[in-house]
Amino acid sequence: MAKITLDNLAHSYLPNPKGEQDYALKELNHDWVDGEAYALLGSSGCGKSTLLNIISGLLHPSQGRILFDDKDVTHAPTTERNIAQVFQFPVVYDTMTVRDNLAFPLRNRGADAAYVRDRVQQIAQMIGMEEMLNRKARGLTADAKQKISLGRGMVREDVNALLFDEPLTVIDPHMKWELRTQLKSLHHEFGHTMIYVTHDQTEALTFADKVVVMYDGRVVQMGTPQELFERPEHTFVGYFIGSPGMNVLDATVSGDKAVLNGTEIALGQGFGAVSGKVELGVRPEFTTLTSGDTGLPVTVKRVEDVGRHKIVRADFNGTEINVIAEEGSSISPDANRIVFDPAGINIYADSWRVAPAGEK
Ligand code: ADP
Ligand code: MG
Repeated sequence: MAKITLDNLAHSYLPNPKGEQDYALKELNHDWVDGEAYALLGSSGCGKSTLLNIISGLLHPSQGRILFDDKDVTHAPTTERNIAQVFQFPVVYDTMTVRDNLAFPLRNRGADAAYVRDRVQQIAQMIGMEEMLNRKARGLTADAKQKISLGRGMVREDVNALLFDEPLTVIDPHMKWELRTQLKSLHHEFGHTMIYVTHDQTEALTFADKVVVMYDGRVVQMGTPQELFERPEHTFVGYFIGSPGMNVLDATVSGDKAVLNGTEIALGQGFGAVSGKVELGVRPEFTTLTSGDTGLPVTVKRVEDVGRHKIVRADFNGTEINVIAEEGSSISPDANRIVFDPAGINIYADSWRVAPAGEK
């Protein structure tokens, strides 16, 4: 197990990158703490696989260094890095049995036969394939093959880190939940440094202690699920995480007041003068629909009952605002205002969060 340090790392797939836009991975300094379970979350194409492949050594970065426990491995081949990596699609040896596939990484390292037998049995149980150990991998479903890939990734106990690149894409939904639980318990048992790549926020938030959010080749925030919910550092984090995501509205801010299309809102905290493209972010959980003459004037467009609560879609001057209302609540037909709980308001300048005066 190891701490992994990314020092001034950046990567472009182009031979002569001109500017920032040519980089799939923009300059990044980051420590992955030894023994933590991370989720790397972001939409397709934001650079997650690029980053993972640089850590494992499949890809050589155009700039910067990678350190394992402070030792420079930037130029070390994958085998020397001692990392297990599981990919989105199965990588199995078709002509081998399930057992031999699972045993492969252990035998490769010269583990003794009794240990291999026991460990393979243990892993087969984790992935629910004990009954299939003697079958050839050829002819198994994609689902089963991916479970073998996962098992092979987990079989060695002595790796520096475990990297998973959207490993559950081809797995059916029920098994997904079960395998994710297995991965979590594996982490508790062995305390490996784990990086789990996904574009699915539920997967990220349930798997990891820390979630690293990427957007357009950049890490925009690393934090606990609660931090990402309460204080999104970038508007992308706000609307990518949450269901529905954070409402982001054009505003002007001065001191402890914001003005949204002519309506003044109390922010509860002072911000000084905020410049650039100023936006106010507030999650649907911190908004309330009312009637009367205080709050933002809105028109209710739709009410969706999603079981645990209702989602109200309202129109504010051409922009949609989502409100979460309690399950049993009734939506008054003359509801025409939305008020925000100041505790749930974040202010952004050019998409980045502005800390209020006096924030720790
Ligand atoms: P993600 O895993 O988050 O979906 P990737 O790391 O695969 O994203 O890709 C990041 C960006 O780099 C994308 O714009 C993608 O098109 C580009 N890219 C990925 N792999 C290559 C490659 N081998 N050659 C050129 N461009 C690539
Ligand atoms: Mg990818």
